[in-house]
Order: sequence, then C-alpha cells, then structure tokens
Amino acid sequence: MIRCVLFDLDGTLVHFEYDDFLKEYINAITRTVATFVEPTQFAKALLASTDAMIRNQDPSLKNSQVFQDDFFRRVSVPENVLMPVFEDFYRNEFTELKNTLGVQPHPKAREMLEFLIQEGYDVVIATNAVFPVEAILERMRWGGIQGLPYTLITCYDTMHYCKPNLKYYEETLELIGHKPEECLMVGNNMDEDIIAGILGLKTYLVEDFLLDSGANQHSPDMRSNFNELVEFVLSDGVQAI
Ligand SMILES: [Mg+2]
Repeated sequence: MIRCVLFDLDGTLVHFEYDDFLKEYINAITRTVATFVEPTQFAKALLASTDAMIRNQDPSLKNSQVFQDDFFRRVSVPENVLMPVFEDFYRNEFTELKNTLGVQPHPKAREMLEFLIQEGYDVVIATNAVFPVEAILERMRWGGIQGLPYTLITCYDTMHYCKPNLKYYEETLELIGHKPEECLMVGNNMDEDIIAGILGLKTYLVEDFLLDSGANQHSPDMRSNFNELVEFVLSDGVQAI
C-alpha cells in the first residue's frame, strides 16, 4: 500500500522545459559573476563541478561539499569572495528567470498536493539535489506549490547523492522511513525518475515535458499527461496502484 508520494519538480510539478531553464540559468549566473570570473571559464567550471557532484559515490560528502571543493579548484577567486555573490544571485537574478521563461503555476498542482497531504500521505519534493535550497524553494514558488507541510525537500545542502544514482533514492527513503513498495515516484524523466522503479518504488511518468535518453529500460507502472495525473490522484487512484 502506498503511503508516500514523491514528486520531481522541474517539468513535473513546475511546468517548463528543463533545457530552456538550464540555458537561461547558466547565462544569468555567468553574467552575475562576470566581474569576478571570465565567463567561458566560469561556465566550464560550473558544468564540470556539477558533473563531479552527480558522479560522487562518497557517502561522507554532501553534494554541496563535492561541488564547492571541485569548483574552487577550477577558479582563481576564493570561496569567501564568490559564495556571497552566489547567495545574492539566488535571492535576486534567479527569481527573474520565472518571467524570462514565462512559467505559470498549473492551476491544479497545489490542489493535488493538498489532497494527498489531507488524505494522510507523506509528500516529498524529490527534485534532483543539485541546487541550494533557496533555488528549489524559488522554483516551487513559480509553480504555486510552496509552503505546504512536505515530509522532505531534497537539496544539495543536505543530500549525498544525485539522480540518477539509485543511492539518491535509497538515502531519500531512509530519511523519510519508508520501504520502496510504500512509495510512488512521479516524474517526467525516464533516466532520473522512472529509474527508481529498479529499487521497487512504483513509478508514474508524466509526459508533458518528457525526457528520455533511452538508457533506462525500466518501464513506468503508469503514464499520462499532467491533467490525467491530477484526475488519477483526486479520484484516490494512488490507493489502488
Ligand atoms: Mg524533471
């Protein structure tokens, strides 16, 4: 019986193309730090250190530590100078991306989450833990789903692994105290979200912003567009899955 529903954020609960977001995000943060780090060098370091974080297997290192250790080896500006610039970026320029991308909350997203919480399910925002918590809370505001009593929001400040590493899901389940078979993972990405099915979680693929490299052969238990997902949840479908 399902007791916990985990939702991916980007392209699942918050409706935008991830590649468009990534492009605008990298442009904006590169512009912000341009007075400190040369733009081409910065963008290269950002991508390389993100990759190092995604590949990390060391259980003693949080994602933020892996990222920062790798990143500040690649740029000549010290951490105590650049970190406040990053923090300022996430409080200001980052919030503007909503308008650049034209993101609007889906009218039913919040209602669906409130329904699940009211019915007693644990609800987790299982977004890839590659961003600081401020950047995740901000994207939740874009989707109109901020401020609900979530059981957990995974972010780079607290997690030790990233999707598609199955250890990300093992760590998440350990934190919330649920067995795989008690959980439903909802996401738009075959490689990063539906892969959780390998551990025994039930999976639901949301196809509006589908991402699929073809690498993951594990099929979702259910699939539909977002509107049908909402209907499924509101008609108590999760109970019967
Ligand atoms: Mg996604």
